[in-house]
Amino acid sequence: MIETTDHQRLRQQVRDFADAEVAPRVADMETCATADTALPALIARQGWIGVTIPADYGGMAGGHFAKTIIIEELSRVSGTAGAIAQASQLGVAKILHFGTEEQKQRWLPPIASGDCLPTIAVTEEGSGGHVLGMRTTAARDGDHYVLNGRKQYVGNSHVGHVHGVVACTGGDGAKANRELSAFLVEADRPGVRLIPHQRTMGLRGFSFGDIVFEDVRVPATHRLGAEGDGLDVAYSSSILYGRPNLAAVALGILRAAVEETVSFSKQRHRYGRPLSQHPVIMHKIGALEQRLNTARTLVYQAVHRLDHGQPCDRELINSKYHAVEAAIDSTRDAVRIHGAAGLRTNRPVERLYRDAICTDAPAGTRDIQLYRLAEAALGVDRPQWSARFARSTALHPPTEDGTVLSA
Ligand SMILES: Cc1cc2nc3c(=O)[nH]c(=O)nc-3n(C[C@H](O)[C@H](O)[C@H](O)COP(=O)(O)OP(=O)(O)OC[C@H]3O[C@@H](n4cnc5c(N)ncnc54)[C@H](O)[C@@H]3O)c2cc1C
Repeated sequence: MIETTDHQRLRQQVRDFADAEVAPRVADMETCATADTALPALIARQGWIGVTIPADYGGMAGGHFAKTIIIEELSRVSGTAGAIAQASQLGVAKILHFGTEEQKQRWLPPIASGDCLPTIAVTEEGSGGHVLGMRTTAARDGDHYVLNGRKQYVGNSHVGHVHGVVACTGGDGAKANRELSAFLVEADRPGVRLIPHQRTMGLRGFSFGDIVFEDVRVPATHRLGAEGDGLDVAYSSSILYGRPNLAAVALGILRAAVEETVSFSKQRHRYGRPLSQHPVIMHKIGALEQRLNTARTLVYQAVHRLDHGQPCDRELINSKYHAVEAAIDSTRDAVRIHGAAGLRTNRPVERLYRDAICTDAPAGTRDIQLYRLAEAALGVDRPQWSARFARSTALHPPTEDGTVLSA
């Protein structure tokens, strides 16, 4: 699980980009009431949305480990930039896992080149974590489906070019497992309407808003997988991409908080010595460093397993839980160590705290992650999404006898 020289080169490249292109935009994104529509295109043009897309479709073929590096480094400078990158990288998952060869040929090359930003639109007012509670419908009409409904909190809602919409194909009442299906819906199709951007507590400038679908006609060839595969599309995307992606955003924010606090505590003097030499502050910095090291290990260990085609649902859940918890606890401590200075918007720690809190809900709150871990501990029989998909999309698939070849 050691970073290769290619990984180190990528890390430096993303860091240079974040310092040069993202950092100067942060102040504007914080104060502006609208979503930043230029930054997503800037990130996409680096080819980073296609990091897990195979080279045959023009992608980087870098896998989840490289994806994590990209998101972590962007988030270290701006949680918003990390959130933008991860949302469309997440939008790739459904096409890789469920797309036909024709769908892959059509959509993956423009995504890899940065010309097309995909999203995944699952959440609704009445569903959230309870995906089966959704009410958006897709009614078959000849060789088309007609979509009606409203999705909310869709990452990159206002900049996405193709939405991966999960809808009910079994009517609009209570849903059973096989009554949901997924569709690729171009953002410019008649009947697709954006609700104006709403400002949020954190991740300012990132559009995770609402999209309305009114009698949107979509060719049946835009369906992903079979009719009834919608729940699988939603869960596999969320578990195999959403959780590690949000863990990486949290990790980047956490690292920024530690670096900022260490630097501040060395500069600020109280009682004739730097804060960093007061035992109480040292103890707190030790706790920040401990959480960072543990989060980094858990996050990279989980995606390493994913890249090697190893079952790792539990590791993905655990790392998302820990990285988010560590980021929220540590950014709060960072504000505390800064004293009143931590409240001013000319320092980044209050922004880091607000951004960290925003990493909790997407791909499942910490309470939901604990619920899933409890199920694993109690032996509740649940589908293992990594066991189903990791092998076929792994960068370094295990050999037939199950041996894992190290990168
Ligand atoms: C930054 C961000 C990006 C997002 N990106 C996307 C995206 O790209 N696409 C998309 O479709 N959605 C996206 N979402 C939405 C996200 O997936 C949902 O927020 C998440 O699924 C939780 O749903 P909810 O917010 O409606 O919370 P709810 O499901 O309403 O949960 C509310 C509270 O109830 C608790 N709870 C829920 N169920 C149970 C239970 N069974 N037992 C006990 N407690 C429970 C939860 O832990 C939480 O505390 C995003 C959200 C954010 C904040």
